[in-house]
Amino acid sequence: MTHSIQELLRKGIELPSPPEIAVRILEEIKKDECSLDRLAAIIETDPALVTRIIRISNSSFYGPMTRVNTLQRALSILGLNAVKNIALSFVLTENLRGEEKSIFDYDLFWRRSVTAAVGAELVSDMIGLPCKEIFITSLLQDIGMVFMFLSHPEQYQKVLEEVQSTEAFVKDTETRIFGFTHPNVGAIVLKEWGFPQNIYAPIGFHHDPHNAVAECRLDAQILQLANQLSVVYHGQQGAMVLEKIKQTCEKSFNVDPDKVDTVVDEVARRTIEMLSFFDIPPGDMRPFSALLQEANAQLGKLNLTYEQLLLQYKAAKDKAENLSRELQEANCKLRKLATTDGLTGLYNHRTFQDLLEKRVSEAHRHRRNLSLILLDLDHFKCVNDCHGHLVGDAVLKAVSNKIRGLLRSEDIPARYGGEEFALILPETDIDGGVSLAERIRENVSQMHIAINGAPIRISVSLGVAAIGPHLPPFDKSVLVDFADKALYTAKHNGRNTVRISTINTQSLENHLNSCTID
Ligand code: GH3
Ligand code: MG
Ligand code: MG
Repeated sequence: MTHSIQELLRKGIELPSPPEIAVRILEEIKKDECSLDRLAAIIETDPALVTRIIRISNSSFYGPMTRVNTLQRALSILGLNAVKNIALSFVLTENLRGEEKSIFDYDLFWRRSVTAAVGAELVSDMIGLPCKEIFITSLLQDIGMVFMFLSHPEQYQKVLEEVQSTEAFVKDTETRIFGFTHPNVGAIVLKEWGFPQNIYAPIGFHHDPHNAVAECRLDAQILQLANQLSVVYHGQQGAMVLEKIKQTCEKSFNVDPDKVDTVVDEVARRTIEMLSFFDIPPGDMRPFSALLQEANAQLGKLNLTYEQLLLQYKAAKDKAENLSRELQEANCKLRKLATTDGLTGLYNHRTFQDLLEKRVSEAHRHRRNLSLILLDLDHFKCVNDCHGHLVGDAVLKAVSNKIRGLLRSEDIPARYGGEEFALILPETDIDGGVSLAERIRENVSQMHIAINGAPIRISVSLGVAAIGPHLPPFDKSVLVDFADKALYTAKHNGRNTVRISTINTQSLENHLNSCTID
């Protein structure tokens, strides 16, 4: 740590000379009998300073009082100490403003400093330990930064850039780059300029009050809190720092955290007013509670947008689901249209062929029974001829419904063509096939299809053939040929009857031979 002006000079720090009027004020107050008149005479050499002091004397900071129009009146009402501090504050902030386009943001620096000064006064009131010099002490707590920047602008810019990009502490970065810190430099320079010890000493420890000597430890602690209050308004993580302040106030000074909230808002209100006396733009400073309210409102808007998005998403999802359902239904309908017969609703010829192919090969592979019934309406031509084609259609529908009603779910009914139907019966041997065929025949023969009052009677002829587990594999067309042969026999045996065409090794061989001959 650097402790003396000599060391600073040795390290090449160029010290700015104090503003002349500040030197004279400081010299005057050092005298044993400092006189109000002499102080007034010094201040009066700067008319702008006089105007400012009168303006601030009439402000809310000094309570309701009779109007102050002259410096003498301000001195008599506010007292020598207050006027001296006000004057020094104005003089230093005025003289250490740098150039307008400086890379060091002087406006921000002094805005932070005034916030910290106002904050320090409010904190010392809050903890019940009012301290006469705390405003100016806090105002000047970071002045070391200005001195360091003025002496080595490029090096100090590096400090600022690093702090911004790495979020490291200013003090640590200064130590690394310069070998000393701004609290140190500030305290040394202010001491050199003739500031009293109760001002410069706490400044030297405002980042580590625990290291301060007992007399200035409390002031250094207030400066630290004031600095944090300034961070609430001008730093990145206001809410987090505020929590830290509340904890410190409660732990070290037994202050209710709710009281801290009130003080934090008051800091903004007073700072905005105070900045106007210093001619420093207030930026967008607002009480912290207002900032919180705005943040909550933004959050509310975000939530609203989120809810709207959810609704939109849900509507889009419902729409997509409806579309997908409609598409599925349409596909299902198309599939049905492609596979079924329009009049009867049974499988069409093409599907019958596909399904028969599969079931026949399954039956062969797994050595299972499979029966096929071919069924043809008897003298159907007469129905058409006597009653017309539409009646014929109605009869076809009625017969197919009757057949469907007699089947198991695994049976496959198809319209083979015209007034012919085919029924594939998985896991059904020839006896099972015949008994179903007989049941169908009987049921159809008993149907009374009422058309225009006159009941139409109909009958069917059926041919049955079956694959048994002991047969060698053969093509589906062979099964159809056998069933067809049986149907043919049924027709020639008087119709309304069931006939079988037995498939065994011999009949198969005969069939194959007859096909070869053809
Ligand atoms: P058989 O007992 O010998 O089978 O005599 P049939 O009159 O039933 O047989 P045929 O093959 O001589 O006549 C079949 C008739 O079935 C002729 C045809 O007009 C009719 N037909 C075929 N398909 C339809 C259809 O979709 N609707 C109607 N209404 N009639 C059909
Ligand atoms: Mg017929
Ligand atoms: Mg026919």
